[in-house]
Formats: sequence, structure tokens, C-alpha cells
Amino acid sequence: MRRRDFLKAVGVVALAVGETAKRDKLPEKGERKETKEHMLRIKVVKTKETDFGGDDPKDIKAVLQSVGNTILEHCPHTNLDPIEVKYQEGEPITFFKRGADGQIKVALSAGGKYWSQYALQFAHEFAHILISHSHGHDSQTETENVQLKENLCYTASIFVLRRMAETWATHPPFPNWKEYAPHLREYADNLLSDPKYAVAKQLLPIFEQHPERWEHITFLNMTPFERRVIESRHFIDRIAKTIREQPPAPK
Ligand SMILES: [Zn+2]
Repeated sequence: MRRRDFLKAVGVVALAVGETAKRDKLPEKGERKETKEHMLRIKVVKTKETDFGGDDPKDIKAVLQSVGNTILEHCPHTNLDPIEVKYQEGEPITFFKRGADGQIKVALSAGGKYWSQYALQFAHEFAHILISHSHGHDSQTETENVQLKENLCYTASIFVLRRMAETWATHPPFPNWKEYAPHLREYADNLLSDPKYAVAKQLLPIFEQHPERWEHITFLNMTPFERRVIESRHFIDRIAKTIREQPPAPK
């Protein structure tokens, strides 16, 4: 490596470290980080016209986008691959196996204009996605702490419904959806009295006071080694990004 190139490389690394330090600061409560890396890519696919009770995929996508962002805004370091959502009767599910294009696959059974039901189901599955598919990493097994993970997913549903009740009261995806805000809250209150959500009720204050903890669940299914690999990959990505954004060297 020539000396000039070497100095340039050192400069690039120093810049990258600076950027890392900046990015490692977690956002303030409620602060929205809208960068390209945090964009949530959701595709709602209908195989039959009657799927989702005949609802418009555009509307469903708006609800799901709102659900995902309610959690993802607290995870500034988490990258998610595109998510494909289909309709399927029965229990909602996040599939272990990805689709042919590497998309994360989810099936929901909500239908009609019951946005609270979509929110409940997708928030639960979104927590599964964070646990099993974030950072481009896929969990191979689901044998450890299964009950804990399930309870974290239940917690996500209540957390999201309560937060969305607040955001939709002033900033709903569509202006005429403001009226749904009280229903979201009502739905959350009902869950809190359901025995199935007893542990989630205990976990809820932990996440409401420190929503940045949602990012911690993205490492729950990883070994310490896998986690270090992901972290180094993020670091390399940041260096590559810094190099791409460098102004061309003067001739
Ligand atoms: Zn579950």
C-alpha cells in the first residue's frame, strides 16, 4: 500500500469510528430515526380476493407499517429484510424458512376492518421476527426459553396497541383513522385482564420505561460468537458506507 493510500485508509477508519460513536447513542424517547437502513419493507400478498376479509392490501400495509415502526423506531441498529405477509386461517405464524427471494414470511388470520386485531397479531409476529430473523441472521431452532420468547411476543402486542392508541390519536396513517385510536386502547386494556397475558403484564413496564430494550431481543437467539460476527459486519458496513460517501480525491 502506498503511503498516501495508507493515510487515506487510516482517515476512513477514523471517520468510521466517529460515525460508530455517533450511531451508538440511542435515540431519545419518541425520537424518530428515519434513515434508509431502518426502513421497514412490508408486502401484503393476497392469493384470493376474499383473503383478509376482502380488505384492501394498501390499508392492511398501512396498519402493519405502523405496528412495525412502533417497535423498530427503538432499534436503531437493527436491519430487517423485507417481510411478506399473507392470509391464512388459524393461528398467525412467522415461518422459519424464508421465501425464494430471501423475504421473511408471515401469515395472519385477521380480517375485516378490525385494525386492532391486525395490530395484536402482527406485533406478536414482529417480535418473533426480531428474535429469529433480524440482522440477516436466521435462528435454526426454537428450543431454548420458548416460554420467555412467547411472553415477550405477548408483551409486544400490548406495548404496540397502547403506543398506537397515542400516535393514531394525532398522527394516524390516514386522517379518517383517528377514530380507531380509542379502540386500540380498549383492545389493549382487554388483553391486560386476560390470564394468558399475565406475564406480559409484568414485563410491560420494563419496555414502556425503556423501549430501547426491544433491540436486545434481536440477539436472544444468537450465541455470543454469532453476535460478535453480526457486530463486526455492521462495523464493516459502516466503513464501506463511509468510503462510498467520500468525495472524489483531487487529481
Ligand atoms: Zn408466538
